[in-house]
Amino acid sequence: MYNRQVIFALSQLPRRQIFLLICLISSALAFVGPATVVLHNQSPHLQGRDGIHDATAATSTPPRKGAPRMSAYSEPVPQATDPPFRIGHGFDIHRLEAGLPLVIGGVKIEFDKGSAAHSDGDALYHSVTDAILGAIGLPDIGQLFPDTDPKWKGADSAQFMREARRLMTLRGYRIGNVDVTLILQKPKVKDIKPQMKANLVELLGTEESRVNIKARTHEHVDSVGESRSWVVHVVILLEKV
Ligand SMILES: [Zn+2]
Repeated sequence: MYNRQVIFALSQLPRRQIFLLICLISSALAFVGPATVVLHNQSPHLQGRDGIHDATAATSTPPRKGAPRMSAYSEPVPQATDPPFRIGHGFDIHRLEAGLPLVIGGVKIEFDKGSAAHSDGDALYHSVTDAILGAIGLPDIGQLFPDTDPKWKGADSAQFMREARRLMTLRGYRIGNVDVTLILQKPKVKDIKPQMKANLVELLGTEESRVNIKARTHEHVDSVGESRSWVVHVVILLEKV
């Protein structure tokens, strides 16, 4: 009944008005179609870790051959909204156990205990790596280089640092400065400090004046003070290239 009334009303309209009505309906449909697509493209899975739209989530560069890679992870690229500076914090703790080697900042030091780890256990390199990854908003070292992967068994942690630097460079940043606080009761590290610093300068592609390493004890308290573990804190500032 209703349809008949509509058809009757339409048949009474002059041709010119029917033509205009058809144009109006066509325009409305053309607008609704693309609008639906735009809304779909703005879905949350395309939002970056920064909470801003991040092209890294949408554009994926093929992984570099032989480079360590996570499955659900894209290579970083500079963003128009990147700030001039980014701060990162790194922390690491490892148990000290008898009969293991102790490597600190890439320097092997004689001690009756060593760092218990899947890799070489260099907590200083691990902390710096994590600080860089944190500063550029990437997953942590444990996700990038899982300790369940036999590939990293006994690995030289310098390669974690190199990968972090590569990712930092891809994102368009370089080292502003890095401040390391190494906490262990024993052994004394004064003599190996210059070598540790030289290693960091080289691995991070920066200069001596931008790297600082402080070392202190834990006043004989807790596991660190009882030489059952050692700890490293790192604060890093990255500057946009
Ligand atoms: Zn570690």
